[in-house]
Amino acid sequence: MRIDLHCHSTASDGTDTPAELVRNAAAAGLDVVALTDHDTTRGHAEAIAALPAGLTLVTGAELSCRIDGISMHMLAYLFDPEEPALLAERELVRDDRVPRARAMVARIQELGVPVTWEQVARIAGDGSVGRPHVATALVELGVVPTVSDAFTPDWLADGGRAFVEKHETDPFEAIRLIKGAGGVAVFAHPAASKRGRTVPESAIAKMAAAGLDGLEVDHMDHDPDTRVRLRGLAGELGLLATGSSDYHGSRKTVALGEYTTDPEVYGEITRRATGAFPVPGTGGA
Ligand code: AMP
Ligand code: FE
Ligand code: FE
Ligand code: ZN
Repeated sequence: MRIDLHCHSTASDGTDTPAELVRNAAAAGLDVVALTDHDTTRGHAEAIAALPAGLTLVTGAELSCRIDGISMHMLAYLFDPEEPALLAERELVRDDRVPRARAMVARIQELGVPVTWEQVARIAGDGSVGRPHVATALVELGVVPTVSDAFTPDWLADGGRAFVEKHETDPFEAIRLIKGAGGVAVFAHPAASKRGRTVPESAIAKMAAAGLDGLEVDHMDHDPDTRVRLRGLAGELGLLATGSSDYHGSRKTVALGEYTTDPEVYGEITRRATGAFPVPGTGGA
């Protein structure tokens, strides 16, 4: 069983449509794939409609959170997408991404680059808009060679010249909301230090006590020593340890299934969830 529990589509900042994503996941030899777009479940219906036989879809989302000024991401799996409290919080975060992206465009214009909101809006399409879309505009304009090269202090990195904060949820509130919607909460890439400051272990311990289910240990942004440390921390705190690609299509270099989750851990996630069931593929449209 090959299980990849963290992937993005054009519903947020990935480049595969949800239908392309599930087809590519099957072609990559995956048995289970999770669709976890930033702050939205908009891609789920299309992914389910296109789901190939032999591939199971785990519905989810990646929620933008912040604790003590440190941004972090919380993966939410198999929650009820209609549960009103979590739905309202997702909408709040997603809607605030629009004025925030417009503000980043204005900052970049002040820095002398002729980017426009129309360009960024075209790139984002109907996906929840984020820095990778703004970064893609900078690539189109020849300002930086790749999306990653826009995540520097000169441009869009946390605290960078063109960076603007968005509304982000307190992670303890996120855990409460996810559990309240029958979902499972996994702290995404908790030690991805190249993205900025990371959350201290003392705070992770408090999240574990508040019902956090797991830590995403195997991820491209964690070096081997970091994975060993995180696996140990998960063991100490009684947390599940997951692994996943955090695939973004052509916006990142990682491949589908490059990092995977142990089948027993996946089984435990499905047993804990009460908000939704994994969806077995029936052949797709
Ligand atoms: P946002 O949610 O709009 O603040 O943008 C965060 C997203 O930017 C993450 O989900 C990643 O997809 C992407 N990202 C963050 N850091 C980097 C980086 N160093 N290189 C490439 N993409 C990044
Ligand atoms: Fe992303
Ligand atoms: Fe993330
Ligand atoms: Zn992600």
